[in-house]
Amino acid sequence: MNKYQVLKNVFGYEIFRSGQEEIIDKIISGSDVLGIMPTGAGKSLCFQIPALILPGITIVVSPLISLMKDQVHSLIQNGVKAAFLNSSLSSGQYKKALSNLEKGLYKIIYVAPERLETESFLNVSSKINISMVVVDESHCVSQWGHDFRPSYLKISSFVNTLEKRPIVTAFTATATQNVQMDIKKLLGLRNPYCVTTGFERKNLYFDVIETKTKDKIGETIKLLSDIKNESVIIYCGTRKKVEQLCDILNKKGYSTSRYHAGLSAVERRRNQEDFIYDHKKVFVATNAFGMGIDKPDIRMIIHFNMPKNIESYYQEAGRAGRDGEPAKCIMLYSDSDISLNRFFIDNTNNDDLDIDQLKDIKAQDYKNLDKMIEYCKGNACYQKYMLDYFGEHIDSCGNCGNCLAEFDEIDFTSEAKKIFACILETEQQYGIKMICDILKGSKNNERIFQMGYDNILSYGSMKNFSLISLKNHIKELVNKKYIFLYGTKYPILKLYDIAHDIVCGKSKESVIIKKRKSKGVFFSSNKINIYEQPLYDLLVKLRTQIAKEQKVPAYIIFSDKTIKQICKKLPVELQDLLQISGFGKNKLEKYGDLIIKTVNEYFMGL
Ligand code: ADP
Repeated sequence: MNKYQVLKNVFGYEIFRSGQEEIIDKIISGSDVLGIMPTGAGKSLCFQIPALILPGITIVVSPLISLMKDQVHSLIQNGVKAAFLNSSLSSGQYKKALSNLEKGLYKIIYVAPERLETESFLNVSSKINISMVVVDESHCVSQWGHDFRPSYLKISSFVNTLEKRPIVTAFTATATQNVQMDIKKLLGLRNPYCVTTGFERKNLYFDVIETKTKDKIGETIKLLSDIKNESVIIYCGTRKKVEQLCDILNKKGYSTSRYHAGLSAVERRRNQEDFIYDHKKVFVATNAFGMGIDKPDIRMIIHFNMPKNIESYYQEAGRAGRDGEPAKCIMLYSDSDISLNRFFIDNTNNDDLDIDQLKDIKAQDYKNLDKMIEYCKGNACYQKYMLDYFGEHIDSCGNCGNCLAEFDEIDFTSEAKKIFACILETEQQYGIKMICDILKGSKNNERIFQMGYDNILSYGSMKNFSLISLKNHIKELVNKKYIFLYGTKYPILKLYDIAHDIVCGKSKESVIIKKRKSKGVFFSSNKINIYEQPLYDLLVKLRTQIAKEQKVPAYIIFSDKTIKQICKKLPVELQDLLQISGFGKNKLEKYGDLIIKTVNEYFMGL
């Protein structure tokens, strides 16, 4: 089979997504590859398709048991001979899997990195034909990354034990320049073909709801009542909040489970499974929950508290909508989230670091926190803001709370004049912090008193503004080109001529700023309509029943997207199912008749 046939016949998809085809071509032609693609982009297919085309066996090194299980179950559903080797197997099961591997019964084998060093595995590896070694979540090899796994460092020596060097490929969703260099070096990639696809997530709707702390529970319930019976994760800043919110939601009738590092390993595993297997639809968790969550049908991620930086937020929110269907990422923001994060930063301790290193890290953490606050308070496209932060420049997404909202235009001239005047009075030689402190009339900034700025007109002239809103207003004036930042390390604020003219009365131009008036309304084009709903419900029931029989999560059988397409295309014959995305030949044989029967039952009931 060629790559298109594998895509259609095995996985049931019509077209490749961005980056997939070029990666597959390179691998088949024998090249090492480093693929950096966002969550949900379809990394797995990039190595699974070549694995089925190359003559020998492919070994996939993966860091987590849950990830391996999911991927292997999905492959088996698609009729691919695959298995995993990790500590969840009994010694009998392990031996059996190893002997099957030796007999050539598998095309793809998933392995925990620790297994690569074992004698039994090395022994079998030396006897089989290994075409490719894939390193999934390859950022784990780097100490710069957030999930460093020392056993990943052994992968390259394993590859070196093999008589014939296989193709080596590495995939990850997160890799800064440092991490990328580490991946290439530490995995011994040879002249790898590197692909980085864009990180924009077109199916995700981002929004921030600014709310008082005491109203957050009410807002959460409103959000949940909008999307009944769908999987939702709610991230909270503390374990205590997880406990509280989980109790409240259960009392309100939402089937909710919880996850944080204070629970026993047994409870964490059980709760996680309840969520993955759809026994519980709402999952309240701290940021301890996430890595290895492959559940593709999470329709909403709510952040009950603002996370500490944009990286964490994009990664956590990015767990929504891996299946490409519309999903929401909502942050409930209140100013008290800032104090919570400051408390965490101030109380960071690390015995491995000396005082100066710790000070540097805290200073960086404060800068990152500022960016996160700016995101929450900003009026511009949310997704664009985050991608700019990662160094990728896109147009406004057109689909987030800010892009879809209406704004009031407010005359800000008199306030802007005060800001301009303060910059002038202090001779255009200070940065944003000092200017804000003077405008607020700060008593804690010694430099103000040393310089006598407590006696100037601007001192305290905007004391009724919060520090955050002052900073945001100044940033808006920068964006609107009244003020510019001079210098890179400690940028100072300087006025453009027009601001100068306005404050001196030479210009009568009004300074207009935007204030969000309406809610940006989320629009999901793929929603099931009321006529399709009864069939949708029947198919979901059928899927639950099959998943239960086979002891796998429902999404492994078929995705929500596949069910929606069946409702829209109403297949009446087996062959019609081949037009539905996600239906390869194997699934057609296994479930085709049952689905057609269900569609017919639905027609008869009309
Ligand atoms: P990643 O590992 O990059 O987060 P996955 O490999 O889990 O993403 O893929 C996310 C989802 O997209 C899966 O449900 C997968 O089957 C689906 N998918 C991947 N490639 C395609 C494609 N070409 N067409 C349609 N769906 C695809």
